[in-house]
Amino acid sequence: MKCQHVEFPNLATRRNRQCQTILSKQVPTIDRFKLKFKLVYRFAGIRQQLKAFYNRPNFENFLRYWLNRTNFAEILSDIYDGQIWKSFKETNDENSLNFFRNETADSHLGLMINLD
Ligand SMILES: [Zn+2]
Repeated sequence: MKCQHVEFPNLATRRNRQCQTILSKQVPTIDRFKLKFKLVYRFAGIRQQLKAFYNRPNFENFLRYWLNRTNFAEILSDIYDGQIWKSFKETNDENSLNFFRNETADSHLGLMINLD
């Protein structure tokens, strides 16, 4: 199996050339073939990550950091300054409590997914 990624596919001067880096090879087994991957990326599940975070010293204090930080009215300097953080509800009911609040600061976590 080879990589089919094409860098700058809309570029007029280049033909669409695929990367073609080898990703895996077929390896024979006793009765058939299996794929042997060239690179294996480490992966830690969310539960495993959270367990590791909570085992760090003072992790809960870091979760309460946003409660005592200085706010500047017209400046967005962190996610805590945004409307989503300030108005995100616990449930779909608009009258429900805010998800991010003092009493639950060390147990209500917001997860963000970043892709590259
Ligand atoms: Zn590639």
